[in-house]
Amino acid sequence: MRQELVGVPISPGVGVGRLLLVADESPDQLPLRRVPEGEEEAAWRELERARRQAIRRLAQVQERTARELGIQEAAIYAAQQAVLQDPQAKAALERMVFEERLAPESAIAALIERFGRLFEGLEGGDLKNWAADLRDPWTVVLRELQSEREGSLLGPGDGGPVVLAAEELTPSLVARLPRERIAGILCERGGRYSHGAVVARSHGIPTVSGLDQLRSRVREGESCIVYGDEGRALLGAAEEEREQALQRAAQSRSVAEALLEGAREPARLADGETVWIQANIETPRDLDAFDLRTVDGIGLFRTEFAYMERPSFPSVEEQVGIYRSVLERLEGKPVTFRTLDVGGDKQLRYLTLPEERNPALGWRGLRVGLVWQDLLLIQLQALLASRAHGRVRILLPMVTLVEEVARVKALLGGLRDAGAERGPAPLGAMVEVPALMMSMRHLLDEVDFFSVGTNDLTQYLFAVDRDNPWVSSLYQPYHPAHLRVLRNLARLGARARRPPTVCGELAGQHAGALFLVGVGFRSLSMAGNFVPEVKALLARADKEVLQAAAARALRARSSQEARAVLEETAGGLWRGVLEDLGAV
Ligand code: PEP
Ligand code: MG
Repeated sequence: MRQELVGVPISPGVGVGRLLLVADESPDQLPLRRVPEGEEEAAWRELERARRQAIRRLAQVQERTARELGIQEAAIYAAQQAVLQDPQAKAALERMVFEERLAPESAIAALIERFGRLFEGLEGGDLKNWAADLRDPWTVVLRELQSEREGSLLGPGDGGPVVLAAEELTPSLVARLPRERIAGILCERGGRYSHGAVVARSHGIPTVSGLDQLRSRVREGESCIVYGDEGRALLGAAEEEREQALQRAAQSRSVAEALLEGAREPARLADGETVWIQANIETPRDLDAFDLRTVDGIGLFRTEFAYMERPSFPSVEEQVGIYRSVLERLEGKPVTFRTLDVGGDKQLRYLTLPEERNPALGWRGLRVGLVWQDLLLIQLQALLASRAHGRVRILLPMVTLVEEVARVKALLGGLRDAGAERGPAPLGAMVEVPALMMSMRHLLDEVDFFSVGTNDLTQYLFAVDRDNPWVSSLYQPYHPAHLRVLRNLARLGARARRPPTVCGELAGQHAGALFLVGVGFRSLSMAGNFVPEVKALLARADKEVLQAAAARALRARSSQEARAVLEETAGGLWRGVLEDLGAV
C-alpha cells in the first residue's frame, strides 16, 4: 500500500532500498513477542545459535585485546563468556521459550530485567556494576539476533541496498552496515545538528528524522524511497516513481563525478582570491569516502569517534598508530586533531561519566580532560609523538575560559615532542561557547589559531539543546544574531592575522559557505563529500556579490528572511554550475 511519511530533512539526496527495522539497543524498549504454537523448538535453536555466536565473538575480542593491550585488559571478556555459559540462566531461558512461548529476544530481555530486579534496592556502586556485568554479555546476544535478521535481508542473492528505520539517529547506527548497503535512513528522533546527523551527512546518506511511531507504521522488507532534501519518504511507490528516484540518484552521482576534476584545483573565487578548503573526519576510514586531492588538509579530526570504536582506552602507541595512518595519507598536508570531545551524546563505553541532568551544559570536551588529566596527557603525548609523521595541529574542544588553554600549554611543555626542532605544535581553540567569543582578544594571545564550531555555538547562543526536538525550532544557525557573531569573529581573526576556520555544519552548506566567505572567512572545513560542490559554487562567485548577499542577510529580521536571501544567491550560482555541466 502506498504511504507517504513526512519528517525533518537531515541529509540530502535520494535513496531507494528495502526497509530494515533496526531494533533498539536497549532491551527494556523491545516489544514483547510470542512465537506461534509449534515454533518453540525453532525459536530455541535461534536463541542458542545467537548465544554461541556471541561467545565466539567475545572470545575473538578477548584474543585481540590480549594481543594488543595485555592479558589483564582482556580478562573482562573471559568473564563475559562465562556469564553466557551459566547453566541457571540457560535453564531460565529454556523455560521462557518452551513454557511461555517467548520469542528469543523477549526471553533475553526478560532475563536482563530479572538481573536488574535482583540488584534493585541494594545500595553500593559495586552491586550496580555487577548487575551491569551480568546484563552486558546478554545484550551482545541480542545484537547477534538482530544481525542474523539483518543478514537474512542482506545476504548474498537477496542483497541490495536497504533503508534503515530506527528510533534514534546515533553515530553507531550509521556505522552499522557497510556504507554501500545503506540507501537511506529514517528515524523517529535525532536533530539536524545531532552527531548522528553530522555522520550521516559526511557519509552522504539521504536521511529523514522526526517520523513519529515510524517502526509501528511500516513493514520490514517494504520498498522505500527516501527524499533527503524534502524530508519525506515514500513506501509502496509505483515502479515509475522508483525509476525516477533512481534516475535522480544517478544524476547527482554523475554531477559529483563531473565536479571532481575541477575540485582538485585550489578553491578560488571568480575574481581569483583563494579560499582554504579542508575536510572534517571522524575516523581514518573516512579518508576513503572522498578524494584527498580535493582538500588542503584535515580541518577537524573528531578523535572521539576513533576512540568510540575501541573496546578500551587506546594506549599512546595505539593512538600514534591511528594518527600516523591519517598523517601519512595526507602526505604533508596539515591535520587538525581535536582532542577528545566526549560527554553528552558522545560516550565511550569504557569511560563512565557521571549522569547529568543537563549534559549539554555539563561535563564535556576539555572540561573532562582538565579534571581527568591522564586522558588528556596520554592524547597530547600521542599527538606530539605523531609529529614525526606529518603536520600535526592540536585543537581544544569546548574551551570556556582562556586560562584553560594556558593549562593545556603547561601540560604540553612537560612532554616529549617529536617535532620540537620545527617549533611547538600549533595549538588552537574551538570557539563554540559564547563567553569565549567575548574574550577573543585574550584568547588570541594564547592560541596559534581558532576554529568556529557553529553547531555548538548556535546551541549555546540560543540556549537550545541541539538534540532536543522540543526546542529544535529555536535552533537557528541562519538567524541574523548568529550571523552577526560570525561576522565579528571573521573580523577579529583578520585583524589579529590569525585567519580563523569554520568547521561547523554551516561551512558545508551552499548558503552557509557563501555567507561565511562573504563576511571574510577564507578557511572552511566540511565533510569531504561536500567539497566539490562548495568549490564549484565559489568559483562562480564574485567577492562583491557574496559581500552584498551577506550584508543583506545580516540586516534581516529573522532566520527565514536571512536564509531566503542566501539561498537565492546560492540557488542562482548552483544553476550556473549545473548549466556548465549540461546537467539541466
Ligand atoms: C561544532 O560544534 O560546530 C563542531 C564542529 O563540533 P561538533 O559538531 O563535533 O560538536
Ligand atoms: Mg562542537
